[in-house]
Amino acid sequence: MTDITVTNWAGNITYTAKELLRPHTTAALRTLVADSARVRVLGSGHSFNEIAEPGPEGVLLSLADLPAEVDVDSAARTVRVGGGVRYAELARVVHGRGLALANMASLPHISVAGSVATGTHGSGVGNGPLSSSVREVELVTADGSTVTIARDEERFGGAVTSLGALGVVTALTLDLEPAYEVEQHVFTELPLEGLDAATFEAVMSAAYSVSLFTDWRAPGFRQVWLKRRTDRPLPDFPYAAPAAEKTHPVPGMPAVNCTEQFGVAGPWHERLPHFRAEFTPSSGAELQSEYLMPREHALDALRAMDAIREVVAPVLQTCEIRTVAADGQWLSPSYGRDTVAAHFTWVEDTAAVLPVVRRLEEALAPFAPRPHWGKVFTTPADRLSALYPRLADFRTLTRDLDPSGKFTNAFVREVLAG
Ligand SMILES: Cc1cc2nc3c(=O)[nH]c(=O)nc-3n(C[C@H](O)[C@H](O)[C@H](O)COP(=O)(O)OP(=O)(O)OC[C@H]3O[C@@H](n4cnc5c(N)ncnc54)[C@H](O)[C@@H]3O)c2cc1C
Repeated sequence: MTDITVTNWAGNITYTAKELLRPHTTAALRTLVADSARVRVLGSGHSFNEIAEPGPEGVLLSLADLPAEVDVDSAARTVRVGGGVRYAELARVVHGRGLALANMASLPHISVAGSVATGTHGSGVGNGPLSSSVREVELVTADGSTVTIARDEERFGGAVTSLGALGVVTALTLDLEPAYEVEQHVFTELPLEGLDAATFEAVMSAAYSVSLFTDWRAPGFRQVWLKRRTDRPLPDFPYAAPAAEKTHPVPGMPAVNCTEQFGVAGPWHERLPHFRAEFTPSSGAELQSEYLMPREHALDALRAMDAIREVVAPVLQTCEIRTVAADGQWLSPSYGRDTVAAHFTWVEDTAAVLPVVRRLEEALAPFAPRPHWGKVFTTPADRLSALYPRLADFRTLTRDLDPSGKFTNAFVREVLAG
């Protein structure tokens, strides 16, 4: 076994692999893939579990040295983006051409291919996960050949949120729309008591993208972040009071790293993420978990979290509640259901956090919680298969595209075992 001492962003995972390779050309990448027995790609390393780990016999492949392709087609309103490119670089180019993505995650430093592979999402009752923008995937498969899968193909349902199990994604083509501006308004203290389903819906629908934050030290939400597109109406928001000062989602952290607040309008890519692209966190003193549940269960799920807040709060930095519209990727945590997502930023202490994660999963079990593929979870394989009705189709797709299992690893085997 070789310890190549490459860690993920959070530093809680040191990847085990035979070697880390960084090809400079797609031709070299193809040869490498064809000549290797086991391959996994490392994106920007922002996942919190072993999803990217190839294992002791495997090659960990970084695409960071490939040319960073961002090729905008203004007439078609699409962009072709290379397999190693991060959202921050992509957004700058797209915005420069007067165009925009539909949504972004909280951090712009994550890679596009790695994000859509794990079902990464932002918020918004009308916004699907980031994979919803993908219209075409280009993959280098096990024998080194290139396969392109487009949105109108049946197998596309397994091709985007694929956990990296189908091949090396060398390019994605994404839908764009005309550039738009967003303003961010932060409110404080939204109590849980008295919150009914209709009010929860009204809060989460009050703007294009809405997030609630709590540290579960008290019942209710310390902050409500509304991201309003300036081309949509400004809502009346009677549910909480406007914040008096700039706010960070984690109490006590410097708000200077956060995107502009107080309703100052700005470009979509400088408001949809919570954190500024110029602020580059090289590593994070945190772990994360997230569970995605049908939105109709939102209030009951919030009450179930509140009921165990004395267990959760001691290891929690912040909890964020978002919404994601239903989508059609078979392994998407929001597949086929409008979703409420409960995210937890924990302290960086795996031993202390894991028992709480298990307790949380028990508390949320009645609400069919699908764990975020890139975060810490303990959901067993049989439960995952019950949560994903198209898992068998995905298994068939992996066998078609990768019959020898070159791109599987222990994480993927566990998922497919269900
Ligand atoms: C600070 C922080 C904030 C976050 N915010 C959000 C958020 O707002 N919303 C949310 O949903 N998630 C969020 N996440 C989780 C994050 O988006 C996911 O973990 C995502 O997978 C990160 O992308 P990555 O490239 O860093 O992934 P990696 O961990 O590098 O890889 C993830 C998976 O993608 C595969 N992969 C990567 N590139 C390729 C490729 N070119 N070809 C084939 N497979 C590939 C890898 O093999 C692996 O299986 C956050 C994480 C952090 C650390």
